[in-house]
Parts: sequence; structure tokens; C-alpha cells
Amino acid sequence: MTETGTAPETDARARVMVIMAHPDDAEFTSGGTVARFAASGYRVQYVLATSGDKGSSDRAAVPEALAATRRAEQRDAARALGVEEVTFLGHHDGEVEVSLAFRRELALVIRQGRPDVVLTFDPWQRYQIHPDHRAVGMTALDAVAAARDHMYFPEQLNGGEDEGLTEHRVHNIYFFGTDQPNYYVDISSTLEKKVAALRCHRSQMGDRDIEGMIRARAAAVGAEVGLAAAEAFHYLPMMRPPELKRLPTW
Ligand SMILES: [Zn+2]
Repeated sequence: MTETGTAPETDARARVMVIMAHPDDAEFTSGGTVARFAASGYRVQYVLATSGDKGSSDRAAVPEALAATRRAEQRDAARALGVEEVTFLGHHDGEVEVSLAFRRELALVIRQGRPDVVLTFDPWQRYQIHPDHRAVGMTALDAVAAARDHMYFPEQLNGGEDEGLTEHRVHNIYFFGTDQPNYYVDISSTLEKKVAALRCHRSQMGDRDIEGMIRARAAAVGAEVGLAAAEAFHYLPMMRPPELKRLPTW
């Protein structure tokens, strides 16, 4: 299911797609950066592999109801950051796997959403425990590669699954959840929005001091490069067309 703000085909703005596993992944890892992209005039789309239907330690929780709650929380959080579109792929929490079928699904989403920039999990982060995080990062990267060329999943193109769909080339990837950061985004101006967005995930927050936690984390990451508050990424340039020079650079 998708919530659409502006129809992508009539929107000339540069586009960011955040491909994640669960509701709240984007806010925790890159909420400040997402808010900066939105404030800089990018059109931002979230793509969630799951609806987080196992994300509760409450023995009374029911997966379907939890998924509905978490989708609503995610939409609220997206709105708080200026994200215009949220797409839920509906996989079950904890069951996302690196597969050709999932790559095909993400390639279709990329060819439909046509992002200039993709944010996703660093699939090479050492000791990443959650299998969904590893699988989403690896498959998102594989899908970016597949979406570029017309002989990959050709049934999706030219009147196949979606009228008029063509191959699509992503310009830049920023991996979050990385242990090899090479790119830091100053989030001093959007830290408040990040905190506000995280507070939207009410089912996940419990009585944690979310603001204190987020501020401390942002300060620690920022201290690595002399910023008051930052988020860290591993930046992978896929190509640098001349027109990218017109986009805001940080
Ligand atoms: Zn997650």
C-alpha cells in the first residue's frame, strides 16, 4: 500500500528512496538526514519490507493488529520528517531473505519510484544481528544494480507490470547502520524533528528516554568529525552526472 503526495510522473524534484526492514529503522538511523533531504526540496519515499508485525514483547500482542498499529505510527513519523510516500511490501517480520524474488520486487519499486538517491542498511556491517537488516541492505543494492539494465527483469518494462515503466539508474547510495562511515550529515537543524518522529513509534518506545538517547547518539557520532550532532553513512557514488551538481550538497 502506498500513500502518494505528488504523482511521481509529474514531479521534477530529485528523489530519495529509503529502503528499510521495519517501522522506525529510518528514524533511528537517518531521521535527521531524511528531514534535511525533505527540507532541501527532495521528494522522499519510504519503502518498508515488513510492517514490524513481531516487534513486541507483549504476550497479548497479535501480529495483524501490531502491524496495523506500526504502519500508522510509521506514517505519522514519515509526516513529521516531510516524507511524502510510504510503501509497505508486507513481508513478515524476521522472515526477509536475500532472494531473486525479493530482488525482483525491489527492482520494480525502484523502477516505479525512480530515486536519484537510495538510503539503506549497510549489508557489510559486521555483527549485524537482525537478519532482516542484512537481507534488506544486500537485496536493495542488488535491486539497484538490476534496475539499471533493460535485460534484467524485462517483464517489468514497456507495458509489462506497469504501463510505460523503463530501466532506472540510481545516482548515489548512502548506507546507514555502517561500521565504516565515510560521510557525516550535520543534523543539528533537524534533531528536534528526528526526536519528534521517533516519538510517533509509540508501541516501541516504552518508558525509554528517547530524546536523551537520540541526543547522546547524535553527539557521539558528531564528535567523530567535529559536529555537534550528526548521522553517519557509508557513501557509495554510483555515478555523477553533470546535473547532480545542481543538487544541494552537504
Ligand atoms: Zn529494524
